[in-house]
Amino acid sequence: MEKTGGKGLSLARRLYASRTLGLVLGLLCVGAAMYPLQPAAWVWGLMLFNGLLWPHVAYLWARRARVPFHAEHRNILVDAFLGGFWVAAMHFNPLPAAATLSMMAMNNVAIGGLRFLLVGTTAQILGLGVGWLVFTPAFVAQTSPLQLYACLPLLVFYPLALGWISFQQATTLGRRKRELLALSRTDSLTGLLNHGAWKDQLEVEYQRCKRQHRGAAIALIDIDHFKTINDTYGHVAGDIVLRQLSKMLKHNLRASDIAGRYGGDEFCVILPDLPLSSAAAAMDALRDRFATLGYEQNPALKVSLSIGLAVFNPAHDDAMLWLNDADEALYEAKTTGRNRVICCSDIRPHHALLNSI
Ligand code: GH3
Ligand code: MG
Repeated sequence: MEKTGGKGLSLARRLYASRTLGLVLGLLCVGAAMYPLQPAAWVWGLMLFNGLLWPHVAYLWARRARVPFHAEHRNILVDAFLGGFWVAAMHFNPLPAAATLSMMAMNNVAIGGLRFLLVGTTAQILGLGVGWLVFTPAFVAQTSPLQLYACLPLLVFYPLALGWISFQQATTLGRRKRELLALSRTDSLTGLLNHGAWKDQLEVEYQRCKRQHRGAAIALIDIDHFKTINDTYGHVAGDIVLRQLSKMLKHNLRASDIAGRYGGDEFCVILPDLPLSSAAAAMDALRDRFATLGYEQNPALKVSLSIGLAVFNPAHDDAMLWLNDADEALYEAKTTGRNRVICCSDIRPHHALLNSI
């Protein structure tokens, strides 16, 4: 419900600006066409109200409405109805009539597509009928030069304003789309890439290694006895540990390394262009630094990491086999005592791997 209100409010704000400009320029255009017809005082009054006051009344009306979107829908119908009414009142003076109707049609289609265009056109026809009944039915087939000049500001500036508003909207939408995409790829707790986004990067790195005959390593990092940490110190303390590890990954890896949260207490890193020995040294340094980290809230807390490493192997048929190697290495690290880095080649020599495929 709140969401609908918000959406309607932003529409009301956008329409306030365009309606204020459009109707004041429209007043000039319609006023010039009406002047020679010597309309009654109430007609001038209605014209001035429509051109100068109505945009503000419509905006306040929409702002105060429970669902501003619906209120704006009604305001647009009023706009269209009055537009039709003035066309009949001007005795169909061709240029002001065409300018009024086309600007409104442009506005309606920009706001609500074909549906608003059709509904708006119906309201215009209704207004036209009422105007036809109220005023002496007549048809003035000519536009004087003065009336033509009076229509020019509406014809020039209103499309410009509408185009500008549409451009701003498109820019905002583009930015929101990029923000949403980034959000959908980010793990909300740690700010690292999430499972899916990291796996996409793994696929990219696998293809790059294969194409360019480059080397790379991947590491799966799992916190030891994390469940016990949660049980002993609470889940908030557990979250702090997870954030500390992600912070350490962000600050201690190279800019080209790609870290992600695989899920739960498991993290993952791609280390491009790094031989196994360097990757193992980097991961061991990380493990060592993390084990000595102190926690303000729980000084007794010490956390160790188990890390499984695997280098790119051209014999891998796909990236998942590469990941599987790292997973096996991690399993080995867990089963051989934890708090260590194990490389896949340590548990499965290269020739054995080739034979098994
Ligand atoms: P091991 O040494 O074998 O890895 O044991 P472990 O206790 O770390 O492994 P296990 O997979 O049993 O436990 C992982 C725990 O991580 C279980 C789950 O409740 C916890 N966990 C998963 N996601 C979160 C999270 O976002 N925050 C916190 N605080 N805990 C989480
Ligand atoms: Mg664990």
